[in-house]
Amino acid sequence: MTVASVNPATGETLKTFEPLGADEVDGRIAVAHRTFLEYRRTSFADRARRMNAAADVLDARQDEIARVMTAEMGKPIAAARAEAAKCATTMRFYAEHAEGFLADDPLADPSRVKASAAMVRWQPLGVVLAVMPWNFPLWQVVRFAAPALMAGNTGLLKHASNVPQTALFLEELFLEGGFPRGCFQTLLIGSGQVERVLRDDRVAAATLTGSEAAGRSVAAIAGDEIKKTVLELGGSDAFVVMPSADLAAAVSTAVTARVQNNGQSCIAAKRFIVHEAVFDAFADAFTARMRDLRVGDPADEATDVGPLATEQGRTDVAELVADAVAQGATVLCGGEVPDGPGWFYPPTVLTEVTPAMRMYAEEVFGPVAQLHRVASADEAVRVANATSFGLGSAAWTTDAAERELFVGELEAGAVFVNGMVASSPDLPFGGIKRSGYGRELAALGIREFCNAKTVWVA
Ligand code: NDP
Repeated sequence: MTVASVNPATGETLKTFEPLGADEVDGRIAVAHRTFLEYRRTSFADRARRMNAAADVLDARQDEIARVMTAEMGKPIAAARAEAAKCATTMRFYAEHAEGFLADDPLADPSRVKASAAMVRWQPLGVVLAVMPWNFPLWQVVRFAAPALMAGNTGLLKHASNVPQTALFLEELFLEGGFPRGCFQTLLIGSGQVERVLRDDRVAAATLTGSEAAGRSVAAIAGDEIKKTVLELGGSDAFVVMPSADLAAAVSTAVTARVQNNGQSCIAAKRFIVHEAVFDAFADAFTARMRDLRVGDPADEATDVGPLATEQGRTDVAELVADAVAQGATVLCGGEVPDGPGWFYPPTVLTEVTPAMRMYAEEVFGPVAQLHRVASADEAVRVANATSFGLGSAAWTTDAAERELFVGELEAGAVFVNGMVASSPDLPFGGIKRSGYGRELAALGIREFCNAKTVWVA
């Protein structure tokens, strides 16, 4: 894959970049490692000052980077600005809380281990390689980098090949915040060069957000090298609606949850599992709202849904829909690839989706919703769990017993009750099953790339 920005709303190539050569990559690894050896000894106050300064830079340059993201991957401009704002908030969050999250954890009664004192001390691991996707090109990186740098690690970013300008902006951002150059560097390289970086002895660990295939490859190499990984892969989140739910709120949230980021979010609700008592009412209202969404130029403030980020991404979505329709799925709206430039795909609603269809099992990375009718809460749980993914889930009910059932039984890294799955710096984020492992954000996130050193003192 060439490293290039291509505007998905027009198909026009905006800028191409020459990938780094092996020597240049090696030089950057060396700088990252040398920097780590000094940087790990800096104080939290020093790191926090730089992180807050970088957050201020991001706020000051918010509109500029929002426009770059919209041009490179097609997200609506208002969402791009919101993404940048959330990143700045998360940088300040870790600037404030890292020291507390990584304070020594003392054993309350050290005499139990025949010690005068015993504790866990959290120490940084070293150079962490981040392999990141294009869908939230700023957020995915910052939610790794803010905790990693506050912990005393240094980072190397291999960003998706279609968002190089955002990748270069990120490197600049941390530099302008006052971090030494080796703390955070962008490697403009294709995925074929990842293995060499990962096998380098100076690289301690890796985090990857993206597809199952990419995760499997990086985790296999890291496993071979006995290096820690965190994987945040795909999802096919269930959104369960029971008769006691506030239906109007459920419908409105369901639309947002499905089409956010033009439908290209790992935690987008993708499978709507609705009790038969409210199924028809939900389907009618949801379809009407999906049909009314404004699809168009993502740089236009009035646009709800922009193009898919890549031509291949649109082809994948269209093929999944065509497969379902060929096998008997019913299209309530959308479902046709429009003529004209850009990789647009209309908001689409399908019913009668069966296990024989590919989309029953695969992630649909575009604005396509499938509605499933169920007769009970237990059946809702069964359908929700009939997937190899386990990232997020949402359950709409005001019945206490049903709530407990969903919280206890949905196989996912998160369950949101009467709301949509969303990430926040205050809450851990990650999946189970084939959605990956490890956690990002909150205290758990910053500890992933730390050595939990047990200290025992006689
Ligand atoms: P990929 O997983 O291919 O890309 C994500 C990142 O991984 C990119 O930086 C990519 O680099 C890199 N990468 C890809 N293959 C390898 C590899 N073998 N070894 C090391 N790094 C690799 O996602 P796609 O863009 O191709 O999207 C495909 C599907 O993945 C989507 O339809 C969706 O289902 C899922 N996905 C999920 C995301 C999430 O948020 N969980 C985000 C993006 C995609 P390069 O760009 O150079 O190929």
